[in-house]
Amino acid sequence: MKNTQRVHSDNVESAWNGEVVWSPVKSIWFLSNLLILLFIAPFYFSLSGVFVFVLLTGITLCFGHSLGMHRLLIHRSYECPLWMEYLFVYLGVLVGMAGPIGMLKQHDLRDWAQRQVKCHDYLLHGSNLLRDGWWQLNCDLNLKYPPEFKIEARIIESRFYQFIESTWLLHSVILALPLYFFGGISWVVWGISVRLVVSIGGHWLIGYFAHNKGERTWSVEGAAVQGHNIRIAGFLSMGEAWHNNHHAFPGSAMLGLHSDEPDPGWWVLNALHNLGIVKNIVLPEQLPTRKELVVETANFDRKVKRVPEQCDMTNFIKRTR
Ligand SMILES: [Zn+2]
Ligand SMILES: [Zn+2]
Repeated sequence: MKNTQRVHSDNVESAWNGEVVWSPVKSIWFLSNLLILLFIAPFYFSLSGVFVFVLLTGITLCFGHSLGMHRLLIHRSYECPLWMEYLFVYLGVLVGMAGPIGMLKQHDLRDWAQRQVKCHDYLLHGSNLLRDGWWQLNCDLNLKYPPEFKIEARIIESRFYQFIESTWLLHSVILALPLYFFGGISWVVWGISVRLVVSIGGHWLIGYFAHNKGERTWSVEGAAVQGHNIRIAGFLSMGEAWHNNHHAFPGSAMLGLHSDEPDPGWWVLNALHNLGIVKNIVLPEQLPTRKELVVETANFDRKVKRVPEQCDMTNFIKRTR
């Protein structure tokens, strides 16, 4: 159930020896939507368009990106019916960053590389803001000795995942049809292009700061980079910006661990758990102890959240000390 180790390499150069190259699809996709945002969206501003933008952004980021792609497909941090998994991951595809297998590979490569002693600047957001923006939004990293990937059969052999993997970009275009039908060009421009730029750009910005600046409750000794909690983005990122917590407990379904760390993704998951649809939620307490995990005491002694009855979090503080 918990996240299996999918990446493996015996070559010490695998995490850092590589070249950043321009990625035409990624770059043209992002830049064309950015141009629409800058030069077309202002002329098609409407209150209903903005409402569609907010609604679709919230749904695709919370149910799709955070709960579907990240906490479920990648980390297996809870269990739910297969139809719900497919629905959530499909909504995650609509965020417009990659298909499910592409997202999983990008995530796990970073996750693995950041835990090595040395890691390419591309993978740890180690360059300056401008260059990192160009790299992450327009380029790929070609590793000289890429690590091996072992993706579990339930994902790699799933017809559904194979289908949305090969057609992921098309689904954002398909979504434009009902938007056009019900709300005209305004809904298409705000519901697709503005949303894509805000989601993809926001994901990059949070990734940049979450590996450079911000609060730290824990440190992972020996890792090439630490994760930071980005407080101002905690709520809007649906909880994903509590990245220091995520580096400390990657397999935890709860990202905002303290009561002053809002985690909308968790609120939804908790509600689905209370309705009996979601079960076997994984929390820090259920994860194996990590010797390399060190507490940064200044930020530590805060109230831990209340969680469903099955998951008693009262002990995880003591254990990590
Ligand atoms: Zn990270
Ligand atoms: Zn993760």
